[in-house]
Amino acid sequence: MNYPPEPFRIKMVEPIRLISPEERRKAIQAAGYNVFSLRAEDIFIDLLTDSGTGAMSDRQWSAMMQGDESYAGARSYFRLAEAVEKIFGFKQFVPTHQGRAAENILSAALVKPGQYVPSNMHFDTTDANIRARGGRPINLVIDEAGDPSSQHPFKGNMDIAKLKAFIGKVGAENIPFGMVTVTNNAGGGQPVSMANLKAIAETYHASGIPFYIDAARYAENCYFIKLREKGYADKSTLEIAREMFALADGFCMSAKKDAIVNIGGLLATKDEKVFQNIKNELILREGFPTYGGLAGRDLDAMAVGLFEGLDEAYLAYRLNQTAYLGERIRATGIAIVEPPGGHAIYLDAGALLPHIPHGEFPGQALAVELYLEGGIRGCEIGSIMFAHPDPETGEMVYPQLELVRLAIPRRTYTQSHMDYVAETLGKIAKRAASLRGCKFTYAPELLRHFTARFEPL
Ligand SMILES: *Cc1c(COP(=O)(O)O)cnc(C)c1O
Repeated sequence: MNYPPEPFRIKMVEPIRLISPEERRKAIQAAGYNVFSLRAEDIFIDLLTDSGTGAMSDRQWSAMMQGDESYAGARSYFRLAEAVEKIFGFKQFVPTHQGRAAENILSAALVKPGQYVPSNMHFDTTDANIRARGGRPINLVIDEAGDPSSQHPFKGNMDIAKLKAFIGKVGAENIPFGMVTVTNNAGGGQPVSMANLKAIAETYHASGIPFYIDAARYAENCYFIKLREKGYADKSTLEIAREMFALADGFCMSAKKDAIVNIGGLLATKDEKVFQNIKNELILREGFPTYGGLAGRDLDAMAVGLFEGLDEAYLAYRLNQTAYLGERIRATGIAIVEPPGGHAIYLDAGALLPHIPHGEFPGQALAVELYLEGGIRGCEIGSIMFAHPDPETGEMVYPQLELVRLAIPRRTYTQSHMDYVAETLGKIAKRAASLRGCKFTYAPELLRHFTARFEPL
């Protein structure tokens, strides 16, 4: 496939450099073999995350200059409120400093110990915020999501039969709210169809369960619906977003993804009583409800970015860039989660390194090797992130897939960067059998991938 020409040109540059193999070896050792602990300047191509790493536009930067830093009732807040209402149709919302702050406040407001929160798949911070309140996050994605070779167009869909059975089993009174993540980050950045979203909303609502969307990549999801779902080809992404969010009772969102800002988040609800609790929690943890842990200028950048993230020329380029990287990697013989998602390519480390068991972290082995070989940083999404002891039996539960995520920052890297990543992976693929796993020398209880330290085996 051809690389899509970027629908922008570059007006500011940031130098990057590739340090020597010996320097990389020393750097990763000093980092405890955890790529989160590397100094960013020691990385050549940083695909750790697409969160807050995108390039803002000239319009966003100029909007920032008009930020109103009033403590309460700033103009910036009202500009953001206008964008939120226009895109999502919600009047009651608060800004937060990022997505997990919204999840924390939502969980504090709604989750009681022992309660369940179903979703297609919770992302790590959502999972941890529900657990931190004594709740139990439950993943009910369709079976195809566990099959990296399945070409299902909406692999992020929730299994409605499983959801109904689950609600029947634990009782709606033990489910304070239900969720869905669009796109499904933990499952490969795969989209959820509008038909599935409607069925999810109906199922929750039939049992009186409020429905919240984890909306981090709602715009990419809307564009996938436009491309792949019957009846949406002629609708604008804005119309699709409006239709999607009309189904929900609320949403939480990391604005660091599709709103293309470096920091920010949103939490919205239609429930007046819940909104009151949210504002009280927000004041305690984040700030006054009209700024929510952000500067006024950040709110302005978000208000502009929310619309830029929905721009269809941008989204066409974005999804094609990801698919291009996927195609080049596939050609090296490394399996990826198919079809390529919106924001990232997920390498199937389990398939590439079948000699490394779950408990020795094949994803981590591949992430470390990517750094050693090419100064590239990706992120393990596998047993380090998701393995946990079963609360009843105490036995380790491992995730289905051992992946390494190569997340693509928005509007940041070019075709030659993508080619370099694929070429580096090609070299690693040739000597995959010689890679070894690793073990923990330190691991915290929650969100352990961020700060754990390792030793190679
Ligand atoms: C990034 C992300 C979050 C958390 O947001 P932060 O801004 O990183 O705190 C939650 N859910 C999903 C699906 C995400 O991708």
